[in-house]
Parts: sequence; C-alpha cells; structure tokens
Amino acid sequence: MSDILKYFRQNRLPHIWCPGCGHGTATGALVRAIAKLKLDKNKVVVVSGIGCSSRAPGYLDFDTLHTTHGRALAFATGIKLSRPDLKVIVLTGDGDCTAIGGNHFIHAARRNIDITTIILNNNIYGMTSGQYSPMTPKGMLGTTAPYGNVERCFDLAKLAIAAGATYVGRATTYHATLLEDLIGKALINKGFSVVEAVDQCPTYMGRKNKLGTAVDMLNWLKDRAVNVKAAAVMAPEKLEGKFLVGELYNQPEPEFTAEYMAMAEQVRRKYDNFQGGVRECGQNSD
Ligand code: SF4
Ligand code: MG
Repeated sequence: MSDILKYFRQNRLPHIWCPGCGHGTATGALVRAIAKLKLDKNKVVVVSGIGCSSRAPGYLDFDTLHTTHGRALAFATGIKLSRPDLKVIVLTGDGDCTAIGGNHFIHAARRNIDITTIILNNNIYGMTSGQYSPMTPKGMLGTTAPYGNVERCFDLAKLAIAAGATYVGRATTYHATLLEDLIGKALINKGFSVVEAVDQCPTYMGRKNKLGTAVDMLNWLKDRAVNVKAAAVMAPEKLEGKFLVGELYNQPEPEFTAEYMAMAEQVRRKYDNFQGGVRECGQNSD
C-alpha cells in the first residue's frame, strides 16, 4: 500500500469525483501498474487535457501538466521530443481525445511517438453536464441528444490501430486487474500505446439513460464486454452489441523520437564534415 501512496499527492485528497465515478478506479490501475514496474517517479510525466478525467494528474505526485482542451497530446509530444528519457503518459477523456483532440490523436499514432495514452471513456462529456461525445453509442441519451444520439460512435481501438498505434488494449473498470495489466504492457511498449478504459459516469450517462447505480453500471459494462480470446471462437451474431476487451494489438515498430534523434545526429555529422572541409579548403588556400 505504501508503494502506491507515494505516487499520490495526499494533501490534494479527497478527490472531487462524484461517488461511484469510474475515474478513480482507472487512475488506481495506472498507479498500480507504475508501482509494479518500479518506475522512478521523477522520470514520469503525466499530461491531461480538460474534463473530469483530466483532473486525475492533480492527485498524482509526478511532474504533471493540466493543459487545454484536446491538446494534451500536443504538449506531451513537446515534452517527449525535448526529454526522450522521460516516461510520458497522457490521461484523457473520450470527448477530449476523440472530438477536440481527434487530430492530435491520429497524428501521434501515425508518428508512433513513445507516449502512453489512457482514454477514460465514459461515453459522455461528464464535466460539462452530459453532452454526447463521439463515443456515445447510437440511440443513447445525452443533454444534447434528448431524443437519442443519431450518430455512430468510433471504435476507438480500431481507429488507433488504423492510425498507427503499436500497442492497443481495452478493459473496463469492472475488469480492473485486466486494465492494470494492459496499462503495464502499454508502458513497456516503446511507441504510441493506447489503453481504452471504459468506465462509468453515474451522474450523467447513468442518470440520463436510467442505467441505475454505479454498481448497476459496472454490471452493464461487464455484460457488454467480451474478452478478445473468447470472441475469436464466437459466432458474429453473438457479438452484436458487445465490445472486445483485452490486448487488441501489439506490433512494435521504429519509434518517432529515436528516429528523429538519429536523423538529427546524421545531419550534425554531415554538417561537421562539411565545416571540416571548409576549414581544410581555407587552410590550403593560405
Ligand atoms: Fe465522474 Fe460523471 Fe461525476 Fe464527472 S460527472 S466526476 S465523470 S460521475
Ligand atoms: Mg467522458
């Protein structure tokens, strides 16, 4: 337990999340994964955008950055490029990451930059009182979808894989141990790693859609989640209305920061040789 507590700014607790909110469970899974890997807390940076989920870094005793809406990955990219030795983690919500920050997300994935991105997906904008997000399932209610959302939602894992992420996993807050394991593997992967943590917002998603208590919502998540290994032998019709959990993709590829630094070194050497040549020419002409 003391292993875990040292990663929290205990003077900032208790947190401001509503009773039953899933963000605490997901944050706990991240901290336990970090503790298990024995990461040096002075070498970990956690960056967030705006929203209920983005409050999490405020409680964590790492170097943390609470940035602007949707821009956590842009800030994190700057940090990683200037200090490739740091472990950079982004904590973001479904609206923050896939709407306002959608472009940053796909390009960070395309570059395969070594950032671990954990998306706390409660299928709604919580902090601003329940507007539907690109992750709100079709037909569900939100403040801005009072008769039901008519838009299709992203499959975030497929989006991340298609854009170039090299590690992708998904779990729910019901599957907290699986979530911790996936985050641990994502932290080890040298490249852009995505873990979608499907969690519950009883205050808005739950209340608007009459999903019951936080416990009812956890059971609702459990009933819709199918482990990717079990899904491999299931008939497609059995998977309708379900989503996959587990490790969905793990294919390491060259990482952006390392490639960039190697290129910069090559250019520096070329430039040094060129300068040497100029000096030699100058000496010969004397
Ligand atoms: Fe959590 Fe929803 Fe409350 Fe925000 S509004 S703290 S997401 S339960
Ligand atoms: Mg949300």
